[in-house]
This record gives sequence, C-alpha cells and structure tokens, in this order.
Amino acid sequence: MRTLSTILIMSIAISAFSSPQAVKDNKNEGKDNFKYLTEQFADAKILRYQVPGFENLSLKQKTLVYYLSQAALCGRDIIYDQNFKSNLLVRTTLEAIYRDYKGERNSGDYKKFVVYLKRVWFSNGIHHHYSTDKFLPGFSQEYFATLVKNTPGESLPLLKGQTREQFAETMTSLLFDPSVAPKRVSLDPNSDLVLSSASNFYDGLNQKEAEDFYATMKKEAKKNKQDTLVAFGLNSKLVKENGKIGEQTYKIGGLYSKAIEQIVMWLEKAATVTETPEQNDAVKKLIAFYRSGNLVTWDEYNIAWVKDLHSLVDFVNGFIEVYGDPLAMKGSWESIVNFKDVEATKRTEILSSNAQFFEDNSPVAPEFKKKKVKGVTAKVITVAQLGGENDPTTPIGINLPNANWIRKEYGSKSVTIDNITNAYDQAAKGNGFLEEFAFSKEEIERATEYGSLAGSLTTDLHECLGHGSGQLNKGVSADDLKNYHSTIEEARADLFALYYIKDPALVKFGLVPNDKVAMAEYDGYIRNGLMTQLVRIHPGKTIEEAHMRDRSLIAHWVYEHGKDENVIRSVTRDGKTCFTINDYDALRKEFGELLNIIQRITSEGDYDAAKELVETYAVQVDPDLHKEVLTRYEKLNIAPYTGFINPEYSLIMKGKEIIDVKITYPDDFATQMLMYSKKYSFLPVR
Ligand code: ZN
Repeated sequence: MRTLSTILIMSIAISAFSSPQAVKDNKNEGKDNFKYLTEQFADAKILRYQVPGFENLSLKQKTLVYYLSQAALCGRDIIYDQNFKSNLLVRTTLEAIYRDYKGERNSGDYKKFVVYLKRVWFSNGIHHHYSTDKFLPGFSQEYFATLVKNTPGESLPLLKGQTREQFAETMTSLLFDPSVAPKRVSLDPNSDLVLSSASNFYDGLNQKEAEDFYATMKKEAKKNKQDTLVAFGLNSKLVKENGKIGEQTYKIGGLYSKAIEQIVMWLEKAATVTETPEQNDAVKKLIAFYRSGNLVTWDEYNIAWVKDLHSLVDFVNGFIEVYGDPLAMKGSWESIVNFKDVEATKRTEILSSNAQFFEDNSPVAPEFKKKKVKGVTAKVITVAQLGGENDPTTPIGINLPNANWIRKEYGSKSVTIDNITNAYDQAAKGNGFLEEFAFSKEEIERATEYGSLAGSLTTDLHECLGHGSGQLNKGVSADDLKNYHSTIEEARADLFALYYIKDPALVKFGLVPNDKVAMAEYDGYIRNGLMTQLVRIHPGKTIEEAHMRDRSLIAHWVYEHGKDENVIRSVTRDGKTCFTINDYDALRKEFGELLNIIQRITSEGDYDAAKELVETYAVQVDPDLHKEVLTRYEKLNIAPYTGFINPEYSLIMKGKEIIDVKITYPDDFATQMLMYSKKYSFLPVR
C-alpha cells in the first residue's frame, strides 16, 4: 500500500547543542530574550517557537495562514478519539475538575492531578505519545473520588441520572487499572495486533477479520476494474456489528462529521485567498474529499497538492500517517500550516536538483535504484501552526504524500522545519547533555560548531532524498513488511543521509565547509543509537517506536560489524561509559553496506529478513547500560520529550474588512489547551 513514509522526529542527540548558524540568528533580531522553555513536567518539556517572517507576508498570505490555522485546530478532537475511544471523556472530565473543583489546590495530590492532565494534553490521550504505553495518575483512586465529589455535577460529563459517586467509579478502571487498554499500538508479533491495541480504528473484530476484510476489498476492486491503488481503509473505522463487518468513513455525514464540517468551513474561506490556481485546485479537492470520503478524490487532492510548487504558504491537513494503526492502514488526523523559508531553501534546492546524482551513486544494488528520479522538491519551511497528531509534539521533517505510486509518477514534497529545530537548539543551550555523554573535548567542540548544520542537513537528506530513493520490485507493496515496515523505512532514509553526509560531493556543492560536519553527525548518531536515546525508555521495557528502533538498529549493527576492526570503541571516562568512533571512513562504508541490505529487504518485501534485523539489533536494551544512562541523565534534569505552544493569530478588522493578522506568542501551555478545548471541541464526549 502506501508509506515510503514520512516523518522525522527530533532525536535526543540532535537537540543538544547550540545553534551557531548565522541564517538562524538573523531571524531572532530584537527577540534575543524570547523565552523558549516554559515548563517541565513528568518526562516532558514545553517550548514556544517563533514564526520569523510572518510579519513580512502579504495580507492575503497572512489571511490564508489564519484560515488554515483555524482548520488545523478544528480537528483536534479527532486525534483524541482515534487514539482511544474514551480519551474525549477523560479529557473533558479532567478539564472540568481543573476549572471548577472547589477543594484545596495547594496539596501535593492536586499538583499530581495537574501533571496527569498535562500529560493527557501532551499525548492527546491517556497513552504515552511515544511509547504508546498507558501512563497512570500519580494520585490515588480515593483522591480522584474526592476531586469529582467537589466538582459541580453540571460541569462533569455525567450520564442521565448518574451521581458523581457513580461517575467517579465508572472512570476508575479507565484511569487506574494498568490492564485496561494498556497499550495504544501493539507491535508484538506474537499477539493479535488489533485486539492488543487500544487505538480506536477497529471495533469488535480481530486482526484476521480486519486483514481478510481488506484483502477481499482489494480483490473486488481488481475484479470490478476499479482503482486498486487507493489507500484502502485510510479514512475509516472498521466495525463489526451484529456479525457484519463494515467501514464507518470519516467524512461529512459520516464519522467525525461535526469536526470535519468545521474544517471544511475554514478550508472554504481559505479557497478565497489562495496564492495560485494550483493551490486553489488542491484546497477544493481536499474539500471534496472531506465531503465524499472517496479515496480516489484523496489521491487527486494529493496530486494537486504536489503540483502546487509556487505558493509560499503551504499546509498539510488530513488523515495521513499510519503509525497509530498496528496494521499501518488507518490515517491519524493531522495538520501543519507553514510558509517557505526562501533563504534556507537554497540548501535543499541543491540537494533536489542533484537527486539523480545521489541515486546513481548510492551503494544500493543497481536493480533497486530508480532509473529516473522524478519530481523531488524540497524546501525549508517555517511552521505557523501545528494541529491534530502534530500538536503539541511535532516532527522536524516531513515528506508527503505517502502513496508510492503518486510519489513515483508525480513526485513528492519534502520539508525541513527550521523554526522548530531552532527552538530545540535554543532551549538546549548549556543544558550539560553533551558534557555528560560525549567522550572527548573534540566531540563537544565539533557538536557545538557543526551539530546544528549537521542536523539540518541530515534531515534534508533523510526527507528529500532518503525516503524517495530506491524502488520496489513488481508485485511488492510497502505493507509486505507489516509491523516492521516503519522501522525499516526509517532506517533506509537515515542510512541514505548518513552515507551521503560524508560524501566529498557535499563539500563540492558548497553545502558543508569540511568533513567535520559529517564527523559531528556520526558522533551524535552513534552516541544516541547506542546509548542516549535510552533515556526515553523505562527500566525493563524494550524499544518500540519506529524511529528509535531505526536508530538502535543502525547503531548496533555497525557497532557489531566493525568490532574486529575497532571502528567504534566502548570506553570509560571517569567511570562512565562512552562510545567513540575510531575510523569515520570505515563507519561510512558500514552505513553503505547496511543501506544495501535494507534496500534489498524493502525492494523484495522480505518480511523474514526484516524481522531478523529488527529483532536482533533494534528492540532489546542492555539493562546495565540502561540503568547507568538513566542515572546520569536524571542528574541533568532535562525532560526527554518536547511539546510546543502554538502562536495565536487574530484578525484585525476595519468594519467587515480584514486589514491585518496579528501574531502573539502565549506562554502558558494549560491556558492554550483549555482555550482549544473550549473553542474547538466539536465531537461528542461519549
Ligand atoms: Zn522518515
């Protein structure tokens, strides 16, 4: 099906140095004291990001950003409901208590309650956004009952005739029982993936029934000579009722109608201020898709969107990434509104205009290479609004659309999000992370000087070239790798980037001043994959998330394969474990070898080989090293996950006419979340 996909998430390593780039610094003129980090709770920190250049947009462009940002916010409830069927009920309950609770608000228990609510907002539900494990409140069931008892009944989502006591009781297992809905996305190959996942894409049926349903649907489509390339199942929930299995489609008049109507209302306004005919066409096709739910229209929209290359303002809005579905079919709702950073885009334009060079010279077997690389367009963007699955946690790079055949025939758009990366870098200044985990002073200096550029370039290479490289054999589809698909695909894109960041051509193209950029990237990547990303894993757990698995896979594979030659050394500094690279050229060769292997697995759809690689190198955690890393990290008091507060936009009116759009940067996460819930809640709580 689809997803030679698509998003890149900030790794723990690349968020750990300052940002020496002049390009970025220029944009912060007069805002040197902008506060990026606003708060930390549990394992999360909250940052603000700036939208440099917004003021320089034309009024029409600003208005377009405004309308699209509203459309981005209107789908917020959808992602809560997709993540788990009771998330909206939980959120509404907790917010009611937060607003109207009449009891003591200074107690330790109350503070724990607030942390729990913030975690729910942070993850769009009761499961950790990254590990997908259910997280539990830090307060007791009894305390929860007290909170409910001291909150007015009319504030709470009580059922008719239900007392507050009864209500509190019905919520108890949902919040406190670790065995109820323990995991949002289960990737355990030994379990029924559908039944063991709490995400709300399937109801009343098991994995085999779901797989059979879509296998039959594909067969029927072929028999009836219908479009068989569509992303079957992307925009629906599959439900078994009275023994009958059928889809509930996300569309106006279907599932999530009330939210989709609002999204469409804002998109219709957006259509009046589009920048180009191509963009207008794309917006209209998206509206048509939301009305009909027809996946052929979805593809038509994506093609129109890929063709819109000359608008400065751009956006993503739809049911797109499939990481939330253990069967990798169902799209989670997301939105991003952005505009092009013209100056920084010169960097990615050099890469995309040389796409064929990179494809031809990659270490992959010739039969798996694209003979003709088509339509790779890459740009650096400034994000203006995050929504749905991308809010509050966001990727730093995106490559869409996901449909393989569209990418092949029409190309794709790849973006690197510099203003978000900049916020990470600024907030990480002087946090002590590098000093703790890097082996030598040279490594720290390299990271400080070149880390930021290395990170941006790696993202460019990963998104713009990595995901788009290579081709599948006839008859192979991306979902042949099933639960290993995402990890293998991310590893493929990462390896492409790692291989090329050290290519002499990059110096020749003027993208890097010297070899040290690649060395900084290799240092950080190996350190992260072998060690520092473990700070995101709880003791005793294994690695689950696709990007983390990908980084673990690559780092452990090259470490093992270069052991005899001592390519990477494990060393102790002041009694602390560190990893340091002895031979950077040998390491690059290993990256190339692994890329070749992984491309073959992808091209041939070799499930068994994918399983072997992932299970051997990507999943398991060395418990001793893990413990050591957690102890060292704890002392630094840095939260490993980051969420963002969006800027807010308001229309300045003169009578009925819009004369300007004002941007402000609020600095309180809870206030923004409550405002979103008040203004943009359109779906029923139950
Ligand atoms: Zn990716």
